[in-house]
Amino acid sequence: MLLISCPHCGERAQVEFTYERTLDSVVTLAMPPEDAMRALYERANPRGLDDELWRHSYGCRQWLLIRRNRTTHAIESVKAR
Ligand SMILES: [Zn+2]
Repeated sequence: MLLISCPHCGERAQVEFTYERTLDSVVTLAMPPEDAMRALYERANPRGLDDELWRHSYGCRQWLLIRRNRTTHAIESVKAR
């Protein structure tokens, strides 16, 4: 089980959080459809560090930016969004 240090609540168990997506797959309404399709369906899935969007669903309910290693699951940083 991961322990995630929420900037608002402190260290909490992973079960309180919801993983949303990697930050590079976030699509805005202003993006051209081709770019949106590429961001959603043609992403690389490399090993190593990744910036991810999480939500502290069973805590403060705030969105968080978590930099996590996909291979080891080690969390490098947690920032409020
Ligand atoms: Zn929190």
